[in-house]
Amino acid sequence: MSKDIKTINLKEGSFPIKMNLIYEDIDLQNIGRIKDSISGKIVITLISKELFRCEGSINSVFIDNCQSCLKEIQVNLSFFSNLVIKDKSVMMDDDSNQDQTHYQNLEYFDIKQLIQEEVSLNYPNIVKCDENCLEIKSLEKAEKNLPFKKIRDLID
Ligand SMILES: [Zn+2]
Repeated sequence: MSKDIKTINLKEGSFPIKMNLIYEDIDLQNIGRIKDSISGKIVITLISKELFRCEGSINSVFIDNCQSCLKEIQVNLSFFSNLVIKDKSVMMDDDSNQDQTHYQNLEYFDIKQLIQEEVSLNYPNIVKCDENCLEIKSLEKAEKNLPFKKIRDLID
């Protein structure tokens, strides 16, 4: 574990824990690059023994490429998180699915890991410069491929 990763011992914390977090980098693949730093205003409260709630808002701006035309676009990410935190040791046996749950080692709780998972889950699956961009391109592609499609149809 690198020394710049700060962990919290949730088993010995005093609650609520309020954090204003800023991250300039993130270890996530398949998302855009960070334009404005990721900011998180997070509050962790104790629900009961080894059960916690994490609530807060996470905001960032990314630069990504349109999936269709590859033009650079800005992706504004702003969402509210409300999660239950449990120790990862109970993950396999946990059959309660009432809330969105984040599992981690409670003694070495890494809040950045939680933020990263939330960013990953909330990042748009489809990134487009314009909602019609994909349609236009796929239509052009369909027309271009038409002669080949006919040949394929003959083969089939
Ligand atoms: Zn586009």
